[in-house]
Amino acid sequence: MEKKPFVTLDQVQEIVKTYPTPFHLYDEKGIRENARKLHQAFAWNKGYKEYFAVKATPNPFILKILQEEGCGTDCSSMTELMMSEGCGFSGHDIMFSSNDTPPEEFAYAEKLGAVINLDDITHIQCLEDTLGYIPETISCRYNPGGIYEISNGIMDNPGDAKYGMTTEQIFEAFRILKEKGAKHFGIHAFLVSNTVTNDYYPALAKTLFELAVKLQKETGAHIEFINLSGGVGIPYRPEQTPNDIMVIGEGVRKVYEEILVPAGMGDVALCTELGRFMLAPYGCLVTKAIHEKHTYKEYVGVDACAVNLMRPAMYGAYHHITVLGKENAACDHKYDVVGSLCENNDKFAVDRMLPEVEKGDYLVIHDAGAHGFAMGYNYNGKLKSAELLLKEDGSVQMIRRAETAKDYFATFDFCDLLKKY
Ligand SMILES: *Cc1c(COP(=O)(O)O)cnc(C)c1O
Repeated sequence: MEKKPFVTLDQVQEIVKTYPTPFHLYDEKGIRENARKLHQAFAWNKGYKEYFAVKATPNPFILKILQEEGCGTDCSSMTELMMSEGCGFSGHDIMFSSNDTPPEEFAYAEKLGAVINLDDITHIQCLEDTLGYIPETISCRYNPGGIYEISNGIMDNPGDAKYGMTTEQIFEAFRILKEKGAKHFGIHAFLVSNTVTNDYYPALAKTLFELAVKLQKETGAHIEFINLSGGVGIPYRPEQTPNDIMVIGEGVRKVYEEILVPAGMGDVALCTELGRFMLAPYGCLVTKAIHEKHTYKEYVGVDACAVNLMRPAMYGAYHHITVLGKENAACDHKYDVVGSLCENNDKFAVDRMLPEVEKGDYLVIHDAGAHGFAMGYNYNGKLKSAELLLKEDGSVQMIRRAETAKDYFATFDFCDLLKKY
């Protein structure tokens, strides 16, 4: 499918008068429409709730939009919990799906009334020692081990992942938790990341529903919710076919009716913790070409770098690039599109066919709305860019300012040397 930016050259030329590049831009309309479609896809399930994975796009303005669309938050750190609290999420609107968890984070999650999802059986004792009791509502994360294969060669290797409890452990955990007073149980698993297939959720649902039936039968624990977590992906490449969330919702419903309903578990609520699917396509990194270099290869140097978007450097991930104003020009030039870090992997694209890029051109790096700004860092003393929201009425609101040198030096505030900055 052709990838079109949600912003035009005219709009960007207007925006840069106030906010210089590089910046992340989010599309409110796209975020809302997609969230509504997700809820429509799971409307058949009475207790369904999406807990947005805050780590994907930790911005309070984004969280407020998703809150208005009926989402909760999925947190895995202290500051993610704090941001959720600040945005007015509380109680069971917060899922705390953390791992290697510090006890004080359990305490804070419990203070907010969040649903706590235990990654490990030893955390039962830790939780009890920290709180003095076991909460009545509790969830456990499952890892079936081995290789998890969905269909058409899509698979991952949960046996090699640090997350979740083994089959034996989750049965044991449910028995112990029940003995210690837990009443309402949930199960959770996240087995494959960024799946571009309508088959992942239904396959995962089958695994978890079968487990739930056995767990309830053998331990007597009452299972109230099943958390399909994240993992529904997006087509980063134009030749990929996007997921159809309606088909995914229907696929899960079919398995629900085959497995849970006959077992007398037709009241189980489903939840999801989608991050990428909720935000990735509705955010982009806008950057300006500031340099061209002709050596053994042709380089376009831009004013963004890997600290603004790490995925290409970290995973070799593909992010589509549009040169604004040249949408219809032939892609007859081959470039490496690079940032300024002293790291040769600081390349947004390698051997990418693009229209001829001139200094001053604006480039849109697509699908940066999730795991984009969020993974930012300060290597080479680079500062993080602003985040802007393109609102439904076409206006632009700054939802996080760009960092300044003062922010960068703030952790040396005890040090006289840097006071003048
Ligand atoms: C990262 C994460 C998610 C979100 O994953 P996406 O691939 O962005 O959908 C959900 N739940 C947990 C526990 C996670 O760590």
